[in-house]
Amino acid sequence: MGYLENVFSWSKSRDEQFRDCQRKYFYDKYASWGGWDKTAEPDIRLAYVLKNLKNRWAWKGESVHHVIEEVLKSYRANQPVLLEEKLSRLTDRMRSDYRNSKAKKYFEDPKRNLGLFEHEYEKPITDDTWKKIHEESSNCLKNFFNSEFFKELSADDKKSWLVIEDLEEFDFEGAKIYVKLDFARKKDNFIEIYDWKTGKDESTDATVQMGAYAVYAMHKWGIKLSDVRMYLFNLSSPGAVAKEHPMTEANLETAKKFMRESIAGMKKLLLDAKRNIPLPRANFKYTDNTRFCDFCNFYKICEKYQKPS
Ligand code: SF4
Repeated sequence: MGYLENVFSWSKSRDEQFRDCQRKYFYDKYASWGGWDKTAEPDIRLAYVLKNLKNRWAWKGESVHHVIEEVLKSYRANQPVLLEEKLSRLTDRMRSDYRNSKAKKYFEDPKRNLGLFEHEYEKPITDDTWKKIHEESSNCLKNFFNSEFFKELSADDKKSWLVIEDLEEFDFEGAKIYVKLDFARKKDNFIEIYDWKTGKDESTDATVQMGAYAVYAMHKWGIKLSDVRMYLFNLSSPGAVAKEHPMTEANLETAKKFMRESIAGMKKLLLDAKRNIPLPRANFKYTDNTRFCDFCNFYKICEKYQKPS
């Protein structure tokens, strides 16, 4: 593999991590760099393995997103899509993930084998709790299949579908921004962007994420903000509907300001902003909110918890 440069980029999840704990951000974005190589130094490799762990809620979301992606891609290719078959697919996938994680196979290859935070940190999670995660995931998929939106998709000319879970990047005032749109299509002279949600209430703070999507859409398709419609689709309850998230010029400006300030805050901790080289680790502050530590992938390498010898 050729030399890979650690290029500075911004995403909403990167911002969240930076706000939660700068030290966690340092482990994730810098200390783990190069750890995909099994022969990397043990500290780097460990940081990389830990970086890829998912907690059970993130796992639920990822599993549902993945199967919906398959559903839409099959639909687009005019292949039959049956709920029962997709539910089995979801179950098989989650079973396999769970088994591999329990056996800690993620240490061999963290990209191919899912690692669950709860297994790595030996959290006392009951079988019922794991079953509930699977049940909630299945319900999200059922709610998607039973939604009016899903029925509506069958009437679409599939050529109007623009994006299904593609990771895209664009330039925002000199910084690389990553976005992953769940689904986007052309409809009635608008571009519609959809974001699936699998938790109870994830509508707060959506303006920044949706704002980043809007900037991307305007950049990618050369359209005006008034040509974009954004939807949050919470799949956790029966009768789920896609709710429009208003994206006004004022909201867009709020999102852009947020992104600008977030990027500037991160760049303050760079020794060399051009080459994305961070200041020494000690400059990245530990969080004051130790609640984040209870769910932190890097807990075991965080110096704050090293006992004095
Ligand atoms: S354990 Fe706590 S202080 Fe340490 S990196 Fe994680 S969140 Fe930050």
